Amino acid sequence: MNRIAAAVPLGELPDLSAVLARRVTVLGSTGSIGINTLDVVAHARKVYGEDALPIEALTAQSNVELLAAQAREFHARVAVIGDSTRYEDLKQALSGTVVEAAAGRGAVIAAAGRPSEIVMVAIVGVAALEPALAAIVRGANVAIANKECIVAGGALLQRAIAASGAAVIPVDSEHNAVFQVLNGGSVEDVARVTLTASGGPFRDWPLERMRVATPEQAIAHPIWSMGKKNSLDSATLMNKGLELIEAHYLFGLPPERLAVLVHPQSVVHCLVAYADGSTLAHLSAPDMRTPIAHAIAWPRRIASPSAGLDLAIVKQLTFESADPRRFPCLGLAQDCLRAGGLAPTILNAANEVAIEAFLARRIGFLDIARIVEDTLGADSGSNGDIAGDLDALLAVDRRARVSAGDICRRIEINVA
Ligand code: NAD
Ligand code: MG
Repeated sequence: MNRIAAAVPLGELPDLSAVLARRVTVLGSTGSIGINTLDVVAHARKVYGEDALPIEALTAQSNVELLAAQAREFHARVAVIGDSTRYEDLKQALSGTVVEAAAGRGAVIAAAGRPSEIVMVAIVGVAALEPALAAIVRGANVAIANKECIVAGGALLQRAIAASGAAVIPVDSEHNAVFQVLNGGSVEDVARVTLTASGGPFRDWPLERMRVATPEQAIAHPIWSMGKKNSLDSATLMNKGLELIEAHYLFGLPPERLAVLVHPQSVVHCLVAYADGSTLAHLSAPDMRTPIAHAIAWPRRIASPSAGLDLAIVKQLTFESADPRRFPCLGLAQDCLRAGGLAPTILNAANEVAIEAFLARRIGFLDIARIVEDTLGADSGSNGDIAGDLDALLAVDRRARVSAGDICRRIEINVA
């Protein structure tokens, strides 16, 4: 079966000096993963010397001030702002430096195509798909944090990787953990991969309380510090649903060999059970700088600023099943995983629309699942043949957004 995640290279491992000389591009440098990535780079420069991990390009959507500050601090060659109306502001913020400024969607995609050895894909949402493809097509090492582009365009990415030979290293903590545990072994020997979920802020909330949950409550994640979307997806457990689909495409694992287990401490990130009864786990402190450092240095290891894991402090590791009644998004994602074709593309688009509406206080928390379910019902996306065609895929994504938007408005009117 096809897979996105890189195979372990045969032969000699690269020298650490070659790893540290890699030029790095960060797409989405002002977000949670982007900031953590630059923190890993800063730490590497402290430990290994100022020349470590030179920055080729940084991109952001609208936060000119932080982007310019990052470009100055890390001596980036290029800084790109997605919102082209901010171009003059960016140029001004970079005046007196040799950093090249660029703006607009095309410039973000072009940044991914610039010559760098590593591209960190840390843009949120399906907006990452074309930039990720641009990096894959030129055969870069692609550290992929963005899950939406894998969910929406998994088959397309698989084809692009097969053609270019790009090495894609998962950054999402559970998938990075699976990648480390598998270490190039055959997935044929794997009986089941279990992804753990913290359970989010509403893990033990009754349904009636969830119904009136506010955006502030929903994005207040008990363990991980993340961008708003990933935090909210963790509260609905859609995050884990998207991650099952992500794991399917990354590792070529069939739906029936993928499972979820709630683990509130977020220390064990995955469990890989083998045919012979062995189960291997990956443990680390819940700090994204560990998988980020791993993806940048792979197949070697570099120091990261993460504090490491002390089980004497954690004391207890507990596990429980997810409640499908209170977290219907997980079941919806599992249905789409089994259905295949374009169902995951529609699921993802509807979820992105519903999340925006909830954050804007236009719908209630439990409406998110309803909107996703109704959007899927309105469009089966049954033509799986076009899953490898970018334009057709983006058209399905847009259609699903329109449909989800209509459903949102109907719910809003009824709520008002
Ligand atoms: P975030 O919202 O904090 O940051 C998103 C970044 O993308 C910002 O730099 C923003 O400027 C940029 N961006 C937003 N819209 C854009 C657009 N249309 N075009 C170009 N750039 C755009 O998000 P995050 O939490 O850092 O998450 C990034 C991705 O990583 C998501 O796909 C998320 O699911 C995944 N992820 C995040 C975490 C985490 O700990 N934050 C963990 C696992 C996976
Ligand atoms: Mg994750």
